[in-house]
Amino acid sequence: MAKRRRAEFYRSIPELPKAMQTKKRKPKLMAVVDEDNCTGCQVCVPFCPVDCISTVAGGKYDIPIPPVQIRFNECIGCQICARVCTQLTWDAIRMLPIAEFEKTYQITIGQTAG
Ligand code: SF4
Ligand code: SF4
Repeated sequence: MAKRRRAEFYRSIPELPKAMQTKKRKPKLMAVVDEDNCTGCQVCVPFCPVDCISTVAGGKYDIPIPPVQIRFNECIGCQICARVCTQLTWDAIRMLPIAEFEKTYQITIGQTAG
């Protein structure tokens, strides 16, 4: 009985796409985590609608709970994470206008269609 219920639960999870794609439109804003202020609490992570917040890979910080970072080419600039962080935790996410972001970090956000 328990097994059948578990199978029913997982049936609703979609299969992973065969190929990764980049977004078609450049967002107006880009989320940037101030890693020196981020506590690594991960409260923001489940709120991201495109699931593009993850912990900074091991090695960069020699601390038990590393901060999070945004996978920029997946972020849609919705601002939810910044609001969540400000309201619930530490105010460690800034939303930058996309031109300012690209200039500051020398990153061009892709616009190619998948
Ligand atoms: S909610 Fe704020 S402090 Fe917590 S992990 Fe996210 S960015 Fe960092
Ligand atoms: S702005 Fe929106 S899409 Fe971008 S990281 Fe934050 S929650 Fe995710």
